[in-house]
Amino acid sequence: MAKHSEQLHSMDSVNKSIDTLISAMTENSKDIFEVKPPTEEGKAHNEVMLDEITDGRGRPLFYPYIGSGVGRGPYVELEDGSIKMDLINGIGVNILGHSHPKLAAAMIRAGMSDLVMQGNLQPNKEYLYMLKKLKAIYSQDTRFTSAWISTCGTMANENALKACRQKNSPAAKVIGFQAAFAGRSTLMAELTDNKAYKEGLPDYDDVLRIPFYDQNNPNSCEESLAALKKHIDENPKNIACLVFEPIQGEGGFNVAPKEFFVPLFELCKENGIAIWADEVQTFCRTGEFFACQTLGIAEYIDVMTIAKSLQAAATLFSEEYKPKPGLIAGTFAGSTASLAAGNAVLDELSSGGYMGKDGKIHWIHNTFKSKLQEKMETSLKGKLVDVTGMGLMMALTCFDGSKEKMMEILKALYKNGIISFGCGRGPFKVRFLIPAVMEEKDIDQAVSIIEKTLLEM
Ligand code: PLP
Repeated sequence: MAKHSEQLHSMDSVNKSIDTLISAMTENSKDIFEVKPPTEEGKAHNEVMLDEITDGRGRPLFYPYIGSGVGRGPYVELEDGSIKMDLINGIGVNILGHSHPKLAAAMIRAGMSDLVMQGNLQPNKEYLYMLKKLKAIYSQDTRFTSAWISTCGTMANENALKACRQKNSPAAKVIGFQAAFAGRSTLMAELTDNKAYKEGLPDYDDVLRIPFYDQNNPNSCEESLAALKKHIDENPKNIACLVFEPIQGEGGFNVAPKEFFVPLFELCKENGIAIWADEVQTFCRTGEFFACQTLGIAEYIDVMTIAKSLQAAATLFSEEYKPKPGLIAGTFAGSTASLAAGNAVLDELSSGGYMGKDGKIHWIHNTFKSKLQEKMETSLKGKLVDVTGMGLMMALTCFDGSKEKMMEILKALYKNGIISFGCGRGPFKVRFLIPAVMEEKDIDQAVSIIEKTLLEM
């Protein structure tokens, strides 16, 4: 038992101070409950900061967004004095919204730690807690037996690929889906199916593509299976793994049924090809911790990667695919604050009524979707064309689904108070990664801003 640490964290003065800070924080933001435009003074102040950011990083921000560090649930205050409804959350990081008291308390405690960054040679209790919590989660429906914590989705994916290649050595190639996204390292750019993200980079010829499920094509399952068979025939014993996003994120929130995946997985199993699920974006968002559970395919997965909502990242391995000791390491596992906040997210999501068929995530999805569908059939007929996605991942196809129109809508939504982002390759869609803390009045406000924005176009 660590006497000084126990003492510190059980001191009355420490606990009271944390309570005082959290109360001040929540009291201060209690009047943040609706979107507000920027002030003239705030706009001028923001412009200066934006120019400085452009100067510092060599290119402007996508949105004129500089956060003030204060928010409440789905709302965030910006340096221009505006209040926005944040329906993208840093591309899916802030699943519990802004200024969540439990995350803030965890980070204040982390601020008293001796370490800013924890490493694989130097873990503290937050690192252990995350491993234990993840084990409790993945032990339910999967074959994973261990996890390796890292700093971001790209790094978790690199570790996954190394493990697949090591186990199936000398097989090297990877089966990837069309429209896939895998991250920003050299190899993950190769796995990503988007030319704009690898302009000028060499093609390493590591990836063999197959089409993702297309609900408008009755032969979609057979065509993907045939493409996989062809690659296996043409690359005997040289395919290390198949990587897939259970719901394609960047590719357009494309969803596929279990019946699409299972024949592909069975063919992979017959040929000794590892199945790697990239749940970097889907983790925590579908009403179960893993989208693979929601789709009923968790038992097939050999390796899985998670990040974003975790406030850190991890690669989960089945016993068979656990890497040998020298293969993966690195200085950083994560900052003490991010590990502590990630643990608070896992605690809150596993005990706060979010998961399961009657949980809050399903309620948010169904409520938001039905309100949007109602508009789609009435005031937004021909303007809002489709609402797709699963759980907290929702995407809107608007007008002709062109890239130009989507960009115009993103900017107009931002001006009217909603932060969103794009996805898809045609149709191009407006993407929402919705915080799990939306109440009905927030959903109503979001729907009315979407309606106003599309009617203005
Ligand atoms: N894989 C998927 C499916 C993602 O959506 C992302 C990020 O958007 C990544 C990998 C890369 O994660 P990170 O940006 O944390 O490196």
